[in-house]
Amino acid sequence: MTSIIDKPLATRESALEQLDAFKPKLGHAYAADRNFDNGPHEHLSVSTLSPWVRHRLILEEELVSAALGSHSFAASEKFIQEVFWRSYWKGWLEMRPQVWRDYELSRDQDLADWEGKSELQEAFTGNTGIACFDFWVRELVETNYLHNHARMWFASIWIFTLRLPWTLGADFFMQHLLDGDPASNTLSWRWVGGLQTRGKTYLARADNICKFTRGRFNPAGQLAMDAQPLDGPMAPAPKTLSFQNPVNPDTPYVLIVTEDDLGLESLDISPKSLRQIIYVNCSEKRSPNGISPRVAGFISNAMSTAIKFANEMDIPVSKCDPGDVNGIINTVSASGVKQVITPFAPVGPAQDVLGVVEDRAIENNISFTRLARSYDRETWPYATKGFFKFKEAIPSLIARLGIG
Ligand SMILES: Cc1cc2nc3c(=O)[nH]c(=O)nc-3n(C[C@H](O)[C@H](O)[C@H](O)COP(=O)(O)OP(=O)(O)OC[C@H]3O[C@@H](n4cnc5c(N)ncnc54)[C@H](O)[C@@H]3O)c2cc1C
Repeated sequence: MTSIIDKPLATRESALEQLDAFKPKLGHAYAADRNFDNGPHEHLSVSTLSPWVRHRLILEEELVSAALGSHSFAASEKFIQEVFWRSYWKGWLEMRPQVWRDYELSRDQDLADWEGKSELQEAFTGNTGIACFDFWVRELVETNYLHNHARMWFASIWIFTLRLPWTLGADFFMQHLLDGDPASNTLSWRWVGGLQTRGKTYLARADNICKFTRGRFNPAGQLAMDAQPLDGPMAPAPKTLSFQNPVNPDTPYVLIVTEDDLGLESLDISPKSLRQIIYVNCSEKRSPNGISPRVAGFISNAMSTAIKFANEMDIPVSKCDPGDVNGIINTVSASGVKQVITPFAPVGPAQDVLGVVEDRAIENNISFTRLARSYDRETWPYATKGFFKFKEAIPSLIARLGIG
């Protein structure tokens, strides 16, 4: 058996096939084996579906539904909770967008301050002398995926053993991960460093690495023995989320598609009134250094396949550069339509681009709706505190959303 991550085809069909093949493992097997990192080409105890979920080629609720369709809630609870971690992080950041802005500012400052420093170059090239870390650097760069446990060890070694700025490690992940995601990535790095759950850090230990890599690595004597929380501002209080109401299905509209939600067939919109698609790929903005060619290729293929239906329906598609707001607005105006709809893009590069487009659309008397899915509207508001509180709401969320 191989995993989808070994040959990542950017289509919804391949994600559905992987989910189907992984179904038998969504219960007790996942809970028992998910923490083992068996190494590249052997990631068979986790789904490896995150790149597809990240871009919504497959939906969180489809993962939960597959688990509940083949196992009891009790047996699949661990898997379901992991799926809800993504929803929790997204909701948490959506209510505190300043945390993303602060990350961007610190990252840019750290990039300038650390430019050319040899310690940083050794880490980026996998030449630190810590065999497991150097291996994960290569695995990340070559396969664009790391197991969750390896991500935790990696971030911990980066921060507490190598003493490098956490923002530069987070940025390295954003360049190379197929699932690079502002919420899950930034907040997980903050969590490891003790910024997210104040005072609580994650320390990578040699015996834990040895056990969960099944003896592939044992960095005894090479790792920091304690992890003092990093200094940083307190997270701001959560703002109240407000979502726009669904649009009038009979009014003609232009659909702006970004890489953040490619599940167009399950959006609550009427294809009947769709007049034009504008395709804006903002993924290069995940990092000031851009993204790796394989990640760029995956996203670009994912976007092309997601809008393939437009050809069949004879709907014109225009590709616009995210920096070319004039081009986007001119394309909308040329279509003669006065309404833009776009799937809600959470905090991150696509949301920033859409914010500028929205302002310009309104100046031009074009209405602009960011269409949030029911799943996000229902789950995100629960992310006001820690995951423990959020987790308690999972059974009622599943019932309210009719997943099962
Ligand atoms: C330092 C660090 C950085 C990370 N950066 C990212 C990132 O940029 N993008 C990203 O998608 N995830 C990130 N994660 C979370 C997690 O590692 C990945 O989502 C997970 O490893 C994906 O593998 P999988 O699909 O095999 O997960 P599975 O174990 O099969 O889980 C199923 C699904 O649940 C979700 N999920 C599982 N674990 C987590 C988690 N800890 N947080 C959020 N969602 C989760 C994912 O959608 C995943 O596809 C990061 C974690 C750490 C510790």
